[in-house]
Amino acid sequence: MFVSHLQCSSCSSEFDAAAVNSVCTRCGKALLVRYNLLAARTSVAKDTFSRRNGSMWKYRELLPVFEERNIVSLGEGSTPLVRLEATGNMLGLSNLWLKDEAANPTGSFKARGMSVAISKAKELGILEVAAPSAGNAGGALAAYAGRAGMRAHVFMPRDTPRANIDEARAFGADVELVDGTIADAAKRMAEMNRNAQWFDCSTLKEPYRLEGKKTMGFEIAEQFREGLPDVIVYPTGGGTGLIGMWKAFDELEQLGWISSKRPQMVVVQSSGCAPIVRAFGKHEAVSTQWDNAKTIASGLRVPKAFADHLILKVLYESGGAAVAVDDDAIVQDMKHLALVEGLFVCPEGAATLSGLRRLVERGLVGQDNSILLLNTGSGYKYAELFSSTR
Ligand SMILES: *Cc1c(COP(=O)(O)O)cnc(C)c1O
Ligand SMILES: [Zn+2]
Repeated sequence: MFVSHLQCSSCSSEFDAAAVNSVCTRCGKALLVRYNLLAARTSVAKDTFSRRNGSMWKYRELLPVFEERNIVSLGEGSTPLVRLEATGNMLGLSNLWLKDEAANPTGSFKARGMSVAISKAKELGILEVAAPSAGNAGGALAAYAGRAGMRAHVFMPRDTPRANIDEARAFGADVELVDGTIADAAKRMAEMNRNAQWFDCSTLKEPYRLEGKKTMGFEIAEQFREGLPDVIVYPTGGGTGLIGMWKAFDELEQLGWISSKRPQMVVVQSSGCAPIVRAFGKHEAVSTQWDNAKTIASGLRVPKAFADHLILKVLYESGGAAVAVDDDAIVQDMKHLALVEGLFVCPEGAATLSGLRRLVERGLVGQDNSILLLNTGSGYKYAELFSSTR
């Protein structure tokens, strides 16, 4: 266990990792878990993790839970890396891959984050948790909280896909439906949680979901043995996965296990809600709220990400790109991946292929580049989209 402290992502203030913390009490921004990587470097061998099998908890030395008995796991992570040969041929790309996060418990990569968040909450003695969710976060929170014997409160936009609402309720959460977007759901939650009786598990308002998502970066480094991919295409809502992968690469480099060569990170959003794409286009450090956010890719329907400054920083540091794609293109690519690759992906995952098509059109990726698409969840929760005629 190598956690040293929590550090503000903006003003660098430090906080005690053994205490309950949410955001920075000085400036209100997200807190990041810091590790004593020098100590880890001397006592953890480079091949420690690649020799282990099992869930993402095989990276436990680089995760923030102190006692193994507090780990709440359903076997998340260790998701397959699938080669997209036919799709690559079609696009003139010789090295195209997809990491399939649909294989996670509760059918999305939200399981990674919630497994760590709930494990740590348990360790800190928290009994009641809450989060707003436009899709998979609610179900994942509910599943892990229920398993840990905690009460979960989930606030969802009324038009959240049915499967997400039903699963959250099935896992025992108290679910309230709210008119509007996830931003409105968050407002309603703040009203109901005025006395902070529930621990807030909103995206990046506690430090630990990010640590769970970080394990995607560890797995990618392990799966791409010859070196990290040249390009990673990520469907971005709140940005936890993108920021988490980047944090993983930073930590691996500090451990001396990978070189400083980094992928170009690419954000894909829906043209119905693309605040990060807009801010990136103007070279801005933060985004502005997207009005009338609307997209079938419910995980991307985030009008303003709380940690937008971190998402944009990753894009600028990595020399990346940000592209918006239409919902019609997303549905076409859901159908394409099912038909050609045997993958039943969520709209957010399909958006990465639609985004890649834009990159190819603009000549932003090379034919021999190794390119990794992230499919963040299962299409089964959105099955009706496959039968639609759009
Ligand atoms: C939450 C979610 C996203 C967005 O993830 P962030 O890391 O918050 O940007 C993408 N796809 C799916 C399926 C999701 O559930
Ligand atoms: Zn701060």
